[in-house]
Amino acid sequence: MIQELIRKNIKDLKPYTSARDIYNHGILLDANENSFGSVVDSSGELLNRYPDPLQLSMRKRLSEYLGVTFNKLFFGVGSDEIIDLLIRIFCVPGHDSIMILEPTYGMYKVAADINDVKSNTILLNKDFNIDTETVINNWNNSIKIIFLCSPNNPTGNLLNKESIRTLLQKINSIIVVDEAYIDFAGEENSCIGLLNEFPNLVLLRTFSKAWGLAAIRLGYCIADEEIINYLFKIKAPYNINSLTRKAFQVAFSNISKKDGFVTSILSEKQFLINELNKLNGIEKIFPSDTNYILIRIKNASVIQKKIADEGIIIRDRSNQPNLENCLRITVGTHDQNIKLISLLQKALNK
Ligand SMILES: *Cc1c(COP(=O)(O)O)cnc(C)c1O
Repeated sequence: MIQELIRKNIKDLKPYTSARDIYNHGILLDANENSFGSVVDSSGELLNRYPDPLQLSMRKRLSEYLGVTFNKLFFGVGSDEIIDLLIRIFCVPGHDSIMILEPTYGMYKVAADINDVKSNTILLNKDFNIDTETVINNWNNSIKIIFLCSPNNPTGNLLNKESIRTLLQKINSIIVVDEAYIDFAGEENSCIGLLNEFPNLVLLRTFSKAWGLAAIRLGYCIADEEIINYLFKIKAPYNINSLTRKAFQVAFSNISKKDGFVTSILSEKQFLINELNKLNGIEKIFPSDTNYILIRIKNASVIQKKIADEGIIIRDRSNQPNLENCLRITVGTHDQNIKLISLLQKALNK
């Protein structure tokens, strides 16, 4: 089934072979690196050498953490890189399409647009969940990938796992489930358990949110080995750099710090929800399985600008379908949250 969905030029592609694909130790005079060293001395990293194209040490470490074999793992320069690579593997420009369920994360459509791939858009239902009938009725065989985001950005809710399972059973496309916020929702809500059953499922994860590593640009996907092999086939040869790998290793020697962040963020989220509930003029606080809260408020754009003038920036999502007057608030530290609430109160009372 996967083979049928791969673009012909990608199937036939003869990939670039990098020097470090062939040899990675010995006296390395094969890649025109600087044999004398590097101008930058960085705590034990050999910055004069190209990094491991196969990402082996990272894949092995992550494999232990997830309990998934390493050949089902691929790292990208942020999960945004993987979104682009998946579109390039499966969608013929000017011919194929992806399906997205709005309102959702904006990069799926942008990545498709860049690749001249059409986005077939349908709406999430009134609870921002999947209407499986609508998806199935609007599906056609030019749709090579369906992007689902669970928990969904910007609405904050998990998507129904049974609906995802139904789509995996009934639809002959790749189904990507973007789990950028899964750390905040609980591992039991992940679709990771469906991977063994469905070779067309791809899970996306990132180090940019719970792990606090947005700056190193590191994301990964978990998928059938066949899909992983195509990702390796078409990626830039050395996509994950040595400083990023170093930060990854430090992160994995300190997993409890990430868990501590998640606990603090969830408790601050509850504080914010309690305080928001006390304000007059907030029409709705949407349920959140993430590190942000979506609210509906009168004159959202005006309110957003007013509090921005006072130095606190939240995201106006009013322009997205079914999100009239909606603002998305990332949970801050306790002091930041107190300041935000007081500015919101002031803005609402004017
Ligand atoms: C933040 C976010 C990402 C971005 O991930 P990077 O790894 O930083 O590229 C991906 N998907 C969703 C839904 C996000 O909100």
